Formats: sequence, C-alpha cells, structure tokens
Amino acid sequence: ETIKEDDTYVIQGPEPLEPLSNDTLGTEFLKIFPRLPENAVAIIDAFTNEKIFYTELFQRSLNLAATLRHYGYYDQNTVLSISSENCVDYFTPILASFFNGTIMAPLNHVYTIYELEHTLKISEPKVVFCSEDVAEKFVTLKKNLGFIEVIVILGKSPLSPKYSHLKTEVQTTEQFIQGVLGIKNVDPAVFKLATGDPSKMIAAILCSSGTTGLPKGVALSHRCFDVRLAHSRDPRFSIIMDDENILGLLPFFHSYGFAMVLMALANGRTVISLRKFEENSFLKTIQDFKIHTLFLAPPLAVFLAKTSLLDKYDLSCVNRILCGAAPLCKDVEEEVKRRLRCDNIRQGYGMTETTHAITVVPLDDLRHGSCGKAMSFVQGKVRDPATGKSLGPNQVGEFCWKGPSSMVGYYRNEEATKDIFISDGWLKSGDLGYYDEQGYFYIIDRIKELIKYKGFQVAPAELEAILLTHPEVQDVGVVGLPDELVGERPLAFIVRKVGALVTEDELKKYVADVVSPQKRLTGGVIFVESIPKNQTGKILRRELRNLLKQYEKRL
Ligand code: AMP
Repeated sequence: ETIKEDDTYVIQGPEPLEPLSNDTLGTEFLKIFPRLPENAVAIIDAFTNEKIFYTELFQRSLNLAATLRHYGYYDQNTVLSISSENCVDYFTPILASFFNGTIMAPLNHVYTIYELEHTLKISEPKVVFCSEDVAEKFVTLKKNLGFIEVIVILGKSPLSPKYSHLKTEVQTTEQFIQGVLGIKNVDPAVFKLATGDPSKMIAAILCSSGTTGLPKGVALSHRCFDVRLAHSRDPRFSIIMDDENILGLLPFFHSYGFAMVLMALANGRTVISLRKFEENSFLKTIQDFKIHTLFLAPPLAVFLAKTSLLDKYDLSCVNRILCGAAPLCKDVEEEVKRRLRCDNIRQGYGMTETTHAITVVPLDDLRHGSCGKAMSFVQGKVRDPATGKSLGPNQVGEFCWKGPSSMVGYYRNEEATKDIFISDGWLKSGDLGYYDEQGYFYIIDRIKELIKYKGFQVAPAELEAILLTHPEVQDVGVVGLPDELVGERPLAFIVRKVGALVTEDELKKYVADVVSPQKRLTGGVIFVESIPKNQTGKILRRELRNLLKQYEKRL
C-alpha cells in the first residue's frame, strides 16, 4: 500500500540573518582571505608548532589550483582525493579544488587497503593528496586502480629518507607545483575561478553508509557548505565565537571536522591541528592555546569525565562545550560540567548527509538531553514511519530533514539516493525521537543499521560481506553492543556451516586483518542457529538487537 506523506507539522529554523551566496566556495574564500590581517595564522600543528599563515594558505592553494588546471584537472568531471592525519596543509588542496570547481573526496587515513579500494572506486579520483605515512597504501592501490594518475605528498618538506624508495611513484607538493609554475606565484587578480550553480556543483564527497547498506559517497554541493558558513557567522548559534582558537582534533575527513575547519577559516580563526588523540597533548593544547570552546564527540567527554590527568593542567579557559556525533549520556555531561567548572555544555546534531550539524542547543536556553533546535535554512519533521504522517510535539517518530544543506545525493548511486529521500526533498535520518513544544529535538534511539564506535561510522553490511567470505560461515548479522566508553562495539551473530568449528578469535582476526580498528569485532561473536530474516531475505535488525538484549541479560 502506498504511504501518504504529509507536512502538517514542520519545524522551521529561524529566519536567516544573511542570504545564501550565489557564488561557489572558491569565490567566497577569494573574497574573505585578502581581508584578513597579514600575520593571521590559519592552522598550527600542536605537536610540531608548524604553522601556515592565511596569506600562505591562500597563495599555495592558488598555485596548486593553477598547477592542477595546467594538467586538465579543473571541472566537475574531476575528483581529487585527500588522505592524511590532521595537518596544516590539509586544506590547501581542498581550497584549490574549490577554486577550480573540481570535487574533493577526503578519505580516512587509517583505512586499510581493502577499505580504500572500495571507497576509491566510488569516486575514482585522478589525483590523491596524502601524507608520507599513508603514501605507500596509495602507491600499492595505484597499480590496480587505473584511474589514479598522480600521488602528491602534502606539506612543504621534501620526501624524508624513510620514504625515499617511493620517490619515483610520488611527487612532493613543491615538485608538483614547481614543475609547472617554477617559483612564480599565481596572481589572484588574474586567476580564473570556476563558476556555476552552487546548489548543483559538487564540492566534496564524504563517506557515510546512511540508513542502510555499504559505505557510500555523500555528494555535498558548494551551497551545502555555504549554509554552514552562514551558521558560523550567526551569533544565535554561537558556534564560532569571536577571536578564539579552534581545536582541530576531530578528524578533518569526517563531516564534523571538515565543516568545522571551513567555518573557522571563513571567520579568520586559527585552527590548532592535532594529528592524533594523545591524552596529555590534548589537555596541554587546550591549556596552552587557551581554547574557549571545546568541540567534542562523546568518547572525548567520557575521557574528560574520567581522566586522572586533569589536575595537571589549567583548563579554566574552557567556557563552552559543544558535543555531537553520538548520544551524550547525562552522567558524563554532569561530570564534565563539574570537573571543568563549565556549565555551558550543549549538544549539536547532524549527519554527513546534511553537511553535519543542522540543530544546536542555543547558548542562552540550555536543555539537558536535547540535541538542539533547528538552525536557519533547515526544516525538520518527525514522521511516523508506518503512515508517513508528520507528528506534533512529544510524539515519537523518525527525524526527517530538508533544506539547502542536504546532500545532492549519493555519488553515482541513484538507488540509494532514492531510498533515503522520501519525497519532496525530505531526507530520512534513521534517528528516532521527538521535539517538545519549544522545538527542541530529543533522540531516543537509532533505527538505521549504522553502528557508531567513538563517533566513527561502522556499517554492519560491510562487516557482514567480509564475514560471508569466510569458508566456514553460513550466515551472519552484525549489530552494535552498547558500551559506555566507545558508544557501541561491533558484534557478529554467526551461523557456522554444518560441521564447521571456526572460533570467535579466528573470526575476529579474519575481520581485523582487512578493516581499520574502529570496525573490528570488539563486541565479540555469538554463535546462533539462524539469523532472523524476512521473506525477501533482509536481516530483521530489530530482532537481532532484541536477541542481543537477551544475551546481555545472560552475561
Ligand atoms: P555521521 O554521518 O557520521 O555524522 O552520523 C550521523 C548520525 O550520528 C546521526 O544520524 C545520529 O544517529 C548520530 N548523531 C549525531 N549527533 C548526535 C547527537 N547529538 N545525539 C545522538 N546521536 C547523534
């Protein structure tokens, strides 16, 4: 039977303070950068103190753009990729890509060759920018993936001796640029920027598995990010505050970190880049760089709530905390407040598919447990999945979102795109919850397949596909085992083939050999007789989760 959609109850974010731009991001940043002070620092590496000034970032990204253009990489048919730990040069190729109107596809630098191969095949980048430490993986992949033409090492340094064996396979950024421009700089006044409709031109492809299936490429337009830049300049949302340093710990390849840095750069702030999470450096960075606003994901909040290192540092500079990417539990929130003597702790909520945050709790009216109110340009509704009806306050249903920050679609995947949009531009979130009379949203459950380990996505379908290739596995269903420290741990229900004796440890290792750490089966393996499925063979995930609850009780 067909479901009739309705829009009786729609929550609308407040009137925007500024209209969206009709320009591309390249044009916007080209206007912003020259207005910043000569000595303004864009990004500093907290570990090495290496820094890049705005003037440098601007000039280097223009030089890089001109070089890419020389080689024919300058339009929407070209995808570039970047894969690196957070670093000061991360955004140089990204800005270059915006200037040229090419598409940038950031990839998790801890991905294994197996994971990279799948994700690279979605976007087929011609040029890959990467750090030295991950270059070898791309050199190996390039041999089989015909579409990769060039591998460029990020940063200003020559190739270090440790990697000299790669010198015929990769180019340093300087070699790449100087091969075309020599030591000349491109004049911004004569550089020909890409033009086009910002709502149609794709700026980036980020990874997400959405509500179901394998990881996909989320195609976000220039307009999508422009919405976030408008949010960042709007004092009502208090995301980027005046004159403060922005902590760059969240990974830049994820929509949270990616959007955060773009917002910081559009506001002329300094981003303190941390290449990895290390307990003491994290706390020392907050102290030394006088970070006012902490952007956290729940596992970092758990760390702050529990660490015994807090007394060693002066964190009195922190007066605002924003947390998102996964549910924040009340005890942790209270403990963080108490230990950091900071009452301003608020949540934000979003998805990669909505260019990250679309709701945030306002600073002047905090509500515990809410993931926030809709921001400008955003429409939200709570939809009854069975009837398609929009629900009024305090009624539980699926969050659905609409607005110019919603993705253009999954890159080259019409079917998945059709599945996640219900009608008329409404995007299903797979999150279950309600809003109250004042329009504050509350999440109570996740009904999509997605598992989140430390805020990182784990797609059950990906692990299931891997486990099904094991010769002794008959069938499999993967779910998330709730865990206070990391959110959820991937756990596999396994049906062994008749007579098979494969053990839990063997299966864990089988998975660990091909995937990055967050996707390992740290929740364990449970052997069962069958996996609950419907008539068409689809795994009944709700039943699987109930099954897990029964096992948890027995433990
Ligand atoms: P990602 O695309 O990786 O950003 O994941 C998006 C998903 O993360 C959402 O659909 C939610 O399930 C979850 N999420 C994000 N923010 C929150 C939050 N504040 N509370 C609970 N879940 C969240």
